[in-house]
Amino acid sequence: MAVAKSKVKRYYIQGSVVPFEEDMTHEFKGHRNFAIEELPIWAREKKNEGATRKPVSGNLAAFLNTGKGGTVYLGITDDGDVLGLKLTHYQKDHIIGNMHDLFSRYKPRVPPHRYTVKFVPVINKASSPQDILRQCSYNSSESTEVLNRERPHVYRSDKYCWCDKDAVAQYNTGLIPSDYVIEVCVKPWDSRDVRNTDGIGSLVHINPIYENEEGFIYMRRQASIVKYSMNEVAQLSRQQMKEACEAEMLRLKEEISQRKLLKAS
Ligand SMILES: [Zn+2]
Repeated sequence: MAVAKSKVKRYYIQGSVVPFEEDMTHEFKGHRNFAIEELPIWAREKKNEGATRKPVSGNLAAFLNTGKGGTVYLGITDDGDVLGLKLTHYQKDHIIGNMHDLFSRYKPRVPPHRYTVKFVPVINKASSPQDILRQCSYNSSESTEVLNRERPHVYRSDKYCWCDKDAVAQYNTGLIPSDYVIEVCVKPWDSRDVRNTDGIGSLVHINPIYENEEGFIYMRRQASIVKYSMNEVAQLSRQQMKEACEAEMLRLKEEISQRKLLKAS
């Protein structure tokens, strides 16, 4: 990944390997199936437990549930190779709408300030500096029509949406959409943010636990995710509460002793 000179925004180089690996806060995915219903049938069948394609939703839920946040990079393989995904502007609209739809199905619902979606251009390694500048400043919304921007997209389905059919039609006429890595970033939990805990923030630093659209609770462990049972969640919550209370007690003791010192001086 290259970092921009003054005018060029951030970009990836096709075929390169990114300088970081999958870990607690980074996950790579070669596809863009967010919710369980978007997975092709072959990957959804129970007998196919070994199927390598898993929806992105579990990873996003796990980043929420550690409270530490994290980023899913779509268009980068497990080995860190940058492939990129070809996307028209309508498909970008679809992905953003799909994220909102997915997070509205979590329990509790995930508010929009907890995540961002970025489309980072993927450029050919033979590109000249002018080409890079042109690709990075290209605004795909310029070639869209207002009516299509308002047309509803089809989520929760493994069938092609109209925007995908439109992309194929464009492709067939020789209009090749640009490549992107989609970065879906879940922000770390901040209990003091007034937008959290229903608009009041909280003194106790405990992140909420989310159930995803399948009704599962995922946690992140190093570079993978694990499913938690209700029992384990209860145990974890007790532990988090204990730690948060202990930290708060320490802080209060510190405050009291400082006040005593001030009084004495
Ligand atoms: Zn669509």
